[in-house]
Amino acid sequence: MGNSDQDREYVGFATLPNQVHRKSVKKGFEFTLMVVGESGLGKSTLVNSLFLTDLYKDRKVLNAEERLAQTVGITKNTVCIEEKGVKLKLNVVDTQGYGDTINNTDSYKCVSDYIDRQFEQYRRDEIGLDRKNIQDNRVHCCLYFISPFGHGLQPLDVECMRALQDKVNIIPVVAKSDGLTYDEVKKKKSRILSEIDKYRLKIYQFPDCDSDEDEEFRRQDMELKRSVPFAVIGSNMVVDVNGRRIRARLYPWGVVEVENPYHSDFVHLRNMLVRTHMQDLKDMTHDTHYESYRAQWLCKSQCTDVVGRHMRKRFVLVLMILVKKIVD
Ligand code: GDP
Repeated sequence: MGNSDQDREYVGFATLPNQVHRKSVKKGFEFTLMVVGESGLGKSTLVNSLFLTDLYKDRKVLNAEERLAQTVGITKNTVCIEEKGVKLKLNVVDTQGYGDTINNTDSYKCVSDYIDRQFEQYRRDEIGLDRKNIQDNRVHCCLYFISPFGHGLQPLDVECMRALQDKVNIIPVVAKSDGLTYDEVKKKKSRILSEIDKYRLKIYQFPDCDSDEDEEFRRQDMELKRSVPFAVIGSNMVVDVNGRRIRARLYPWGVVEVENPYHSDFVHLRNMLVRTHMQDLKDMTHDTHYESYRAQWLCKSQCTDVVGRHMRKRFVLVLMILVKKIVD
């Protein structure tokens, strides 16, 4: 086919991806990340390292007595970041006080209720009048912090993951992995994975690579999948190493570089969250977790309707019998 023939048969819908792209860039993106795990496991430090901001400027660190007295408090911090003209509104939901009390049964209940409340808000907004300006506060991803010091998962980890697994995409991370040797990291990861399997816990499943992806992308994707649970390191410090300014942890015996793939899986986690899987996490939230919430809600409300109708019928019947008896 000649060039002019091609032009004649060109309708123009090939520009659709560009139009969608322009529209989404103009609208900006929004993402809600939740961090769950005991206090002191490095959650806020990791979030700051991931997004190169200080999201926790106003945070007050509580002492032991204050922590015992408080219940799990959910806090939400928002930052708007911009990179090459693309705006991202990032919400970080923190679960302060999680695992701090002597009896922790309520710890994950608070977290699970919070996620449900966001679904409920979205459901109401969706059937409301102003659907155009819906605020989407649903939690798209939950980074679950596992202590590097225990042997695999703790009972609270299992209970919490079980309570959240059908509501949110859980990504397990081994916190403060700079305290572990190369061998220990390997053993810890494999133990955690086998426990996840044993207790049938559902964590976020990375989608399969598309068949048309190139070799390099496939290699990165495989490496990413192999890194779960991500062994991470965070730092609020930027240090000078051989003339390079990098985020690192400075020890008397050496420097641990946060972004060095030989030191931790931090880069894999960040790439996955920001560069490769953010949209998939959002789609999973909408298509799977939110849909299951909505289905449960519909089922519950229909059951109440049926029971209500049944009760109304019986009431009318009893009323008629009574009226008849009085009249007789
Ligand atoms: P959070 O309570 O879970 O938010 O924990 P923080 O981020 O406040 O960190 C608690 C302490 O652990 C601080 O002293 C941090 O400097 C330290 N910390 C944070 N991340 C790491 C890490 O990756 N490795 C080590 N060794 N310490 C860390």
